[in-house]
Amino acid sequence: MEKVIIIGTGCAGWTSAIYTGRANLSPLVLAGDQPGGQLTTTTEVENYPGFPEGMMGPELMMKMQEQATKFGARVEYKKVDSVKKNSQSFSIFCGDQEYESETVIVATGAAPRHLGLEGEEKLIGHGLTSCATCDGAFYRDVPVAVIGGGDSACEEATFLTRFASKVYLIHRRDELRASKIMAERALDNEKIEPVWDSQVTEYLTDDDGEMKAVKVINIKTNEEKELDLKCVFVAIGHVPNAQFLQGLVDTDENGYIIQVPGCTKTNVEGLFAAGDVADHVYRQAITAAGDGCKAALEAERYLAENE
Ligand code: NAP
Repeated sequence: MEKVIIIGTGCAGWTSAIYTGRANLSPLVLAGDQPGGQLTTTTEVENYPGFPEGMMGPELMMKMQEQATKFGARVEYKKVDSVKKNSQSFSIFCGDQEYESETVIVATGAAPRHLGLEGEEKLIGHGLTSCATCDGAFYRDVPVAVIGGGDSACEEATFLTRFASKVYLIHRRDELRASKIMAERALDNEKIEPVWDSQVTEYLTDDDGEMKAVKVINIKTNEEKELDLKCVFVAIGHVPNAQFLQGLVDTDENGYIIQVPGCTKTNVEGLFAAGDVADHVYRQAITAAGDGCKAALEAERYLAENE
């Protein structure tokens, strides 16, 4: 019987492992499909406090892992299929293996949705990203594009005008889904050029494999054109990685785990949710880490109260 099992190894998972490790709870961390989480798919991270020179995303995650294992966290590279609540514990199933734990911290993150175009995987970090806050500052005085028509797309496009010379807002319809205020803010910005009724059909790269243009098609007129740009910010939504908890934990209509306001508790006693799997608003490394800390302290308190 484990005291704490942490599912997921992004910023939230490793931070809760550091805290529960230092509390002598010897956490078991199940690494999941994408060890290290979303930061392993970015290049430089400039906004994580404490690193004024910036830090490569994968390196930051390796350091978090090192810090967690130093305090006794154990890691197994397993993907969790399902979790069952027993009277005083949880059963965690990975293939034909079963783990038992008194508490569970779910820190499985969310996956940005992509268009599914050829070469997409290779372009991530080379002119294709899903986070303007993380990568916008790398694209100063050059044209960029945002794909999507929701609040995220408008927010990111508006934010990017601080750096980019021009921001194409490529949307598949001629009306934004975003809230009125966010849509107006974006459309009133003279650096933002909407590209209506359009879908990106191809990413074009230079000799170094960096993004240099996109091909778009107007789905009403079938007219095709190329837009020269240096980076594409895909903002067509995220999918929280919580499907394996279906039927156990309450989620909102988009699948994000619902936390008890002000903490990381969920509707299931002893099960805590931290980071992007429960956050569709901030989605930052530092907010996920903060959530991981809260989940660890709350799990510790729960164990003490139930001893
Ligand atoms: P969203 O509201 O689901 O919008 C996704 C956008 O992507 C839609 O415009 C959609 O087009 C487009 N899209 C989806 N699949 C596509 C595809 N395959 N190809 C091209 N376009 C595609 O997602 P979101 O903007 O990330 O927002 C998620 C939630 O977070 C929302 O509840 C939002 O209000 C909230 N949020 C709030 C704030 C804020 O208040 N500051 C900021 C960000 C997000 P269609 O419109 O045609 O469906």
